[in-house]
Amino acid sequence: MDHFLYNNGALYAEDVALTEIAEAVGTPFYVYSTATLTRHFRLFNEALAGMEHLVCFAVKSNSNLAVLKTLGDLGAGMDVVSGGEYRRAKAAGVPGERIVFSGVGKTAEEIALVLEGGIRQFNVESEPELLEISRIAAAMGVTAPIALRVNPDVDAKTHEKIATGKSDNKFGIPIAKARAVYAEAARLPGIDVIGVDVHIGSQLTDLAPFEAAFMKVRELTQLLREDGHNIRRLDLGGGLGIPYERSNSAPPLPVEYGDVIRRTVGDLGCEIEIEPGRLISGNAGLLVTSVIYLKEGEGRDFLIVDAAMNDLVRPSMYGAHHDIVPVIEADAAILPQPVDIVGPVCETGDTFAKSRPMPPLRAGDLVAFRSAGAYGAVMSSEYNSRPLVPEVLVNGDQFAVIRARPSFEEMLARDSIPEWL
Ligand SMILES: *Cc1c(COP(=O)(O)O)cnc(C)c1O
Repeated sequence: MDHFLYNNGALYAEDVALTEIAEAVGTPFYVYSTATLTRHFRLFNEALAGMEHLVCFAVKSNSNLAVLKTLGDLGAGMDVVSGGEYRRAKAAGVPGERIVFSGVGKTAEEIALVLEGGIRQFNVESEPELLEISRIAAAMGVTAPIALRVNPDVDAKTHEKIATGKSDNKFGIPIAKARAVYAEAARLPGIDVIGVDVHIGSQLTDLAPFEAAFMKVRELTQLLREDGHNIRRLDLGGGLGIPYERSNSAPPLPVEYGDVIRRTVGDLGCEIEIEPGRLISGNAGLLVTSVIYLKEGEGRDFLIVDAAMNDLVRPSMYGAHHDIVPVIEADAAILPQPVDIVGPVCETGDTFAKSRPMPPLRAGDLVAFRSAGAYGAVMSSEYNSRPLVPEVLVNGDQFAVIRARPSFEEMLARDSIPEWL
């Protein structure tokens, strides 16, 4: 459920008409709903009720400071995958003890940064990384709390680019090697082994792979305890999918996911951490764009809109589906006609949808891409020298620009021409 509903034939974000935002900000723009972000965070919190837990929002899905502060103020932790994301979480007011640091390529600078600023735990992805964290922590005279990210060799049954839990993916330490690496970690200076971490992929629409992975974490936890490690925290990653296509998909609910956690690892006496991104932010955001032209082709018509693959890359990168709806509701008596919805970028890949049934639209009409709050703005670029798309946050009847559209002057000022040229 989200808070983007029609009211008297016009699409609203909570109590604000999208037409009003479009007039103030121009198109294209992202708009996020505070009520939806809040609702989704609470669903996860409630799903883990009765177990000691922390819901860490995956910052990579939507890293706007206002979004992070909205969630941080509700008590969310943050899962970061770079020094930049760590700085964002801190700038949004989230204390280091609620920030976990994941990612396969943590640099020495990033490790020192988070040890300096405070960190809940490192999710360590390799032996060389473990040694590097130990070296830096020992040199700084501090102790780094760590969990090893294990690769359980489970098929997440999701898009190949976002599956992470198979043995041929670059992520984590093979679960069969885990005991040996834990033994090594326990001997290293500056390291405090506290837990086990797993994350098998994103946009999972079936609970079975989670269940399989968590059972492997359970067995490993028991073995590690026999080996003498004080395993007291389990980080189970993110990955629960969302219904991108409302008409024909109903992924599992957070409460069902919580039940899987309870059933598989709930009796181990460990604190549970989860790292949802997409399910919290995905359906909390829309990308709103306007029609530039309707172009009649041979056998197909093209709706050319002012958003493009640089603003929302998911369709061209993952073949992803987004529901696309008119901001002003069409007369129900008029039959929708199939159109290809495309952006202005000079690549055929800049196609959002093919043969999508849409009501008649004209130049200047607004359309909204649903489910665009996760992996949308964060993946945007200035390809084709298109300024970064702005972001807007709505809360009840108020809205604010939370990332302004840069001017062309700002864009050009980032380049420089050498003196000798
Ligand atoms: C991407 C990622 C997440 C979030 O995944 P979602 O599908 O957005 O929930 C969580 N943890 C790690 C380590 C990730 O890389």
